[in-house]
Amino acid sequence: MWARQTQRWSDFDFEGPARDGFAVDWPIRYKDIAPWYSYVEKFAGISGNKDGLDTLPDGEFLPAWELSCVENHFKDTVAKNYKDRHVIYARCAHVTKPEPIHIEQGRGQCQARNLCQRGCPFGGYFNANSTTIPWAKKTGNLTMRTHAVVQSIIYDEAKGKATGVRIIDANTKQSTDYFADVIFVNAGTVNTNLILLNSTSKRFPNGLGNDNGLMGKYFAFHNYRARISATYDGMLDSTTEGSRATAAYMPRFRNVYKQETNFLRGYAVTFSGYRSSATDTNGFGESLKNNLMAGATPGKWRVGSQCMGETIPKETNYISLDKNKKDEWGIPLVNISVAYDENDEKMIKDFMEQYTEMFTKAGFSDIKTSDSKQAPGLDIHEMGGVRMGKDPATSLLNEWHQLHLCKNVFVTDGACMTSTSTQNPSLTYMAFTARAAHHAVELLKKKEL
Ligand SMILES: Cc1cc2nc3c(=O)[nH]c(=O)nc-3n(C[C@H](O)[C@H](O)[C@H](O)COP(=O)(O)OP(=O)(O)OC[C@H]3O[C@@H](n4cnc5c(N)ncnc54)[C@H](O)[C@@H]3O)c2cc1C
Ligand code: SF4
Repeated sequence: MWARQTQRWSDFDFEGPARDGFAVDWPIRYKDIAPWYSYVEKFAGISGNKDGLDTLPDGEFLPAWELSCVENHFKDTVAKNYKDRHVIYARCAHVTKPEPIHIEQGRGQCQARNLCQRGCPFGGYFNANSTTIPWAKKTGNLTMRTHAVVQSIIYDEAKGKATGVRIIDANTKQSTDYFADVIFVNAGTVNTNLILLNSTSKRFPNGLGNDNGLMGKYFAFHNYRARISATYDGMLDSTTEGSRATAAYMPRFRNVYKQETNFLRGYAVTFSGYRSSATDTNGFGESLKNNLMAGATPGKWRVGSQCMGETIPKETNYISLDKNKKDEWGIPLVNISVAYDENDEKMIKDFMEQYTEMFTKAGFSDIKTSDSKQAPGLDIHEMGGVRMGKDPATSLLNEWHQLHLCKNVFVTDGACMTSTSTQNPSLTYMAFTARAAHHAVELLKKKEL
């Protein structure tokens, strides 16, 4: 249930807060995470081209699909007119040509169709069901406890560390405690915040490791409100055949090398061009069948883009636990208090202006921009609340994703993010997780956890 877009972050992202003066400085840089990107890319199977861009580092890629001729036309127009803007094939977690590791995982080659959101019987794209869970099961060390709602992390004051998790059985509502030396809290950003805020004890009355009161705060997301669409009258002698998992992508180009606009940070943008086709569905019985069998007549090329804007984490965007209302399992409900700000509005305006200009230069017509004005939270890529940082006074996690104040608890999902960048985040969560798990094993070997 994800769109499988997998772009690496660069130092323009990890250095962003320090350089532009918002949030707190990331405690790591690209060089710390680069080998772990490679590690997870080889395992998951990421298709893409080596594009040589400093805003979007290259990875360990399987072959990419091709851009359509109109996408190539847009790429060429942009390259001719703007030296710092690049249209590339978006990198995605599809096995376009399986390596031995993917065969060993029991996965097959992606068939390049388009119903991935229903789940893939070939394991053609990376997800937990097709890849990580069966792989972990093979080790013989995995026990899956289903229908288990984690209520909290258990903290032992005498030992000064966490000793396990308390779960409620979703069906029987019975509570059971499980014990472990190391705990990774990876319930997805919102639920990771919920579990940690709900893990209260005499030592931590406001949530595990939350002495500074910042847990749940600096919650951020991506802004997906703005789109642009148009038609193209040319290239009517060509059309597309078959399908592909994704289309073109333009990494962030605003405020990269210098602050050049009246807003902070920038946005990445998707781009796709395809010929709309109309099938004649008139008739009834034999005439309907004949009309359908006659096939679709390709119409004009339609092109479109969507903006994925970086939002700036702010203390005033936060999630908290409801003091009165609880769910079926007696766990407090989460209240989410977030809003867009002036920076987001200016960014949307800039996207619309810049893309109208680029679409016009490419000879597209009937250009239409739209702003869904949807509430934040209807987008995806929630991040933050348990952010990483160098200073325990202003962050919750250290550079290895350990809670500053409870070192055997690790958070490597979206909750750990200090800022949001403009790239899709999940590849970064995966690389963080592999790096932190490796570190936890090293600490365990040295008996330091
Ligand atoms: C429509 C859509 C498209 C997306 N497309 C992309 C994309 O193209 N690229 C990209 O990078 N990202 C994408 N994302 C985001 C991506 O899906 C997430 O970043 C990713 O799934 C996060 O993985 P995770 O393991 O941290 O959390 P999840 O996948 O959310 O897994 C968390 C798990 O924890 C369980 N859980 C939660 N609370 C508890 C509890 N209290 N007790 C027990 N279990 C609990 C949940 O049931 C869930 O199984 C998309 C998301 C959506 C919704
Ligand atoms: S296109 Fe088909 S084969 Fe490829 S990942 Fe999607 S569902 Fe699987």
